[in-house]
Amino acid sequence: MRLSRYFLPVLKENPAEAQIASHRLMLRAGMIKQSSTGIYSWLPMGFKILRKLENIVHEEQVRAGHIPMLMPTLQPADLWRESGRYEVYGHEMLRIKDRHDRDMLYGPTNEELITDIFRNHVGSYKDLPLTLYHIQWKFRDETRPRFGVMRGREFFMKDGYNFDIDRKSAMHAYNRHLVSYLRTYERMGLKALPMRADSGPIGGEDTHEFLVLADTGESEVFYDSDILDLKIGDRTVDYDDQDECAAIFNEWTTPYARTDETHDDDIFLQIPAHRRKSSRGIEVGQIFYFGTKYSESMGANVVKDTGELVPVHMGSHGIGVSRLIGAIIEASHDDRGIIWPEGVTPFHCGIVNLKQGDAETDAVCEAFYLGMKALGLEPLYDDRLERAGGKFATMDLIGLPWRITVGPRGLKNGVIELTSRRTGKSEEMLVENALERIAQTYSAYT
Ligand code: ATP
Ligand code: MG
Repeated sequence: MRLSRYFLPVLKENPAEAQIASHRLMLRAGMIKQSSTGIYSWLPMGFKILRKLENIVHEEQVRAGHIPMLMPTLQPADLWRESGRYEVYGHEMLRIKDRHDRDMLYGPTNEELITDIFRNHVGSYKDLPLTLYHIQWKFRDETRPRFGVMRGREFFMKDGYNFDIDRKSAMHAYNRHLVSYLRTYERMGLKALPMRADSGPIGGEDTHEFLVLADTGESEVFYDSDILDLKIGDRTVDYDDQDECAAIFNEWTTPYARTDETHDDDIFLQIPAHRRKSSRGIEVGQIFYFGTKYSESMGANVVKDTGELVPVHMGSHGIGVSRLIGAIIEASHDDRGIIWPEGVTPFHCGIVNLKQGDAETDAVCEAFYLGMKALGLEPLYDDRLERAGGKFATMDLIGLPWRITVGPRGLKNGVIELTSRRTGKSEEMLVENALERIAQTYSAYT
């Protein structure tokens, strides 16, 4: 992409309404524009990252054996009356009437809708286990929408639902989700810690939240610092293997890690003092096992191999896809701007032309631009007639992990400069070598 032809409305000034770095930087980098409180348009750069995160979530869900589908944003109120949640949900639910005066709502989540689909089409143990998911916009009329996309009213969420014949099989689904979530967050360059949490209004037996540690997080968390050393890495996981998933679950849930709702000082104080940590955290996902709560109230039953009719065991599992963008920025920025992890960056490398219009400089930039594309990578070429200072400031603000700088002075010696956004370190090298280096860096991510 050539910046002269892109739509990247960066802001020079800090917007007054933004209280935290991610909100400020998303507005300044031209990623989002508020349309009304807690509701945003996703401008091209923001949208690009949203799609990248969505793809990662899809890939990891499909890898775990979960099946993608799409349910609507508008739901009939009657289904929620059946489950008993229509009244319980209160003012957070956006209620709408259609022209026939029928009660509708903008879905805050999809347990009712999916259970309705299930009970209409599945009736036998032979069709289980089954996990369906979708990535769809949700609406919750939050009391305090704030921090930009972190606590929006309209937000993008992956929600998945498992259907299993018994508790044992459902616990495998629970563990499988935990493992797939760990992989998902790691690919996004994030450390998200699973923590025992409180099940809240969904209700249920077991639940873990995934938290990214950050001072601006809304949750208070307590953990054993040993958990920070754990990593899934490139370990291949057989998601059908119950024992393997259970082992990973145990490994990650053995060190103490809890949100304030489930925190227990008596247990916490038994951890050696130097490992005992408390901090703030951003909730980027949650997994639930809630047994037969919805299947019983909504009559989602299946026949067992013994012929007995039983309510199906269920769980639901969510990832806050749009919130994740804020969480990534909170975890990865400096005073000049965003620093995208390689796995999610909107463009792979920025190109700064120091002397637009100079034949040789233009030609080298062009060659690098085409070279990147030939490698299947996406460059963002700042080909505007702007001062070098302005170009560097924009690149630092939008946070691409790599930048090359091309100018007449370096070209006298046949070199360009390759700069890492994270370390700020620059190296002079030949164009071919810079291309090779960048291709190598990204080979682990594509
Ligand atoms: P919170 O406690 O932050 O209000 P929640 O527990 O009600 O969230 P879930 O129902 O677990 O949310 O939804 C799954 C995920 O969706 C959350 O882990 C979070 O990442 C994301 N999410 C929830 N509410 C919002 C929101 N208002 N804006 C953006 N993302 C959200
Ligand atoms: Mg939650």
